[in-house]
Amino acid sequence: MTMWAQRLGPLGTAIRAAAGIGLILLVMAVARWGLGVNATTVGFAFLIVVLGIATAWGLREAIAASVTAMLCFNFFFLPPVGRFTIADPQNWVALCAFLATALVASHLSNRAKMQAVEAREHQQETERLYSFSRSILLTDNTQPVGQQAARYIAQTFDCPAVALYDATEGEIYRGGAGDLPGIDEQLKRVAMDGVRSADTTRLLMVLPITLGGRPIGSVALLGLCCSDGAMEALVNLVAIALERARSAEIASKAEAARQSEEFKSTLLDAIAHEFKTPLTSIKAASTSILSEPERVAPDIREFTEIIDEETDRLTLLVNEAVRMSQIEAGKVLVEKQEQHVPSFLAHVLSTFQSRLEGRIATVDADNDLPPAFFDPDLIALALRQLIDNALKYSPPETPLRLTAALVDNALEIRVIDKGKGIPEKEREKVFQVYYRRDASKGKVPGTGLGLHIAREILRAHGGSLHVEGSAGSGAEFCLRLPLDRLPPREAARS
Ligand code: ATP
Ligand code: MG
Repeated sequence: MTMWAQRLGPLGTAIRAAAGIGLILLVMAVARWGLGVNATTVGFAFLIVVLGIATAWGLREAIAASVTAMLCFNFFFLPPVGRFTIADPQNWVALCAFLATALVASHLSNRAKMQAVEAREHQQETERLYSFSRSILLTDNTQPVGQQAARYIAQTFDCPAVALYDATEGEIYRGGAGDLPGIDEQLKRVAMDGVRSADTTRLLMVLPITLGGRPIGSVALLGLCCSDGAMEALVNLVAIALERARSAEIASKAEAARQSEEFKSTLLDAIAHEFKTPLTSIKAASTSILSEPERVAPDIREFTEIIDEETDRLTLLVNEAVRMSQIEAGKVLVEKQEQHVPSFLAHVLSTFQSRLEGRIATVDADNDLPPAFFDPDLIALALRQLIDNALKYSPPETPLRLTAALVDNALEIRVIDKGKGIPEKEREKVFQVYYRRDASKGKVPGTGLGLHIAREILRAHGGSLHVEGSAGSGAEFCLRLPLDRLPPREAARS
């Protein structure tokens, strides 16, 4: 009877209370007319029945039974029998003692019962949370973690419908057989506000999923009956699972990127190695022809000079490609040397001679500049990226200028062109890996790596690289190199 009466709610309580009263009446009838026992025995029998009712059903049913028992006791056993009045005041005391004992004992027994129920529920919650945390730990990467978490919640907590919103992915995952129509908007709102919402009529809870105070999603649970603490723990487990999956994804992407960089660098090394032998042979042949110019016809000499220059250029390009891939893979090894800046700049510019096509290109640097300490190969590589850009992105009739000066105890080298320049909002973006402006894509060949690598080189020197110039009137790239970076040997001497 307990099970179905429990499901009926208040009606169930009334039915159980009636059954309790019936039981008291039965005991009273048996005692009075069946066994003919005395008042004390009946009193104790009533007490036992009331305690049994309190333990089995609850306090309300026990109160109904105790009041009935008190009335029966009074009517059938206390003189004058057959009336509700009591002649002897001592019997009043006995009756009140009976009622008080029945009520207090019922209350205590009911409280013990409630505590046992709570403990059982608590244990069940803990078991479910444990089982859920195990499932969460065993998620695989064949399906999104959000999808698996929603399914596990529905299974483990017997939830008819679950919807989980992963804000980072912008996806909503569902679990359970039931449906939650129109939940999407509510989920997004809760994830944004970080405030839970409850619809008690539908037994629906929508809780934010937060990590370190930052909302990362939300979860809607239909018909989930558990304590606030368990819900909090459930949401925290989901947050950890989502974050764990996110970190694993980032780590695997970083590892893939690292492996790809390493592979690229190794491949370039191999290609460069293959190129070096034929380049050395071509260079040796052209040098030997040019060493005795009088023995060759003038037109052959001219062609050989072109072959000689282009071989140098090709060798430089191969070496540069290897160096660039090493820098990209994070392997920058700086070997500083003392440099005379004006001659260094003139030398770097001279390597572009064949590409100037009549453009005016000048170096503007005071010959008295103090010597600077930097890796000449690396800084030349950085400068070549900037000069290459100036030649690519400004019309051939415009001038190109390289300047060098001391500014705030640093060497400042500028590469100035008179092309269209770079708009303010893109002046940081152009230094990102593979970033190319829309104006250049598809029109001018390039990979979007040059400026990134140039900046990496400057950073490895403890310097900086940024772009200035007003949009429309050319770009001005500014390299800053600290002057006080003497190599240990020189520093000790000075
Ligand atoms: P590469 O890897 O071959 O150098 P790239 O020249 O496109 O390719 P970056 O040198 O990194 O790559 O330059 C990034 C983008 O910045 C270019 O695509 C171009 O749009 C813009 N840019 C760079 N220098 C200039 C310049 N001097 N004037 C105008 N735009 C420039
Ligand atoms: Mg470039």
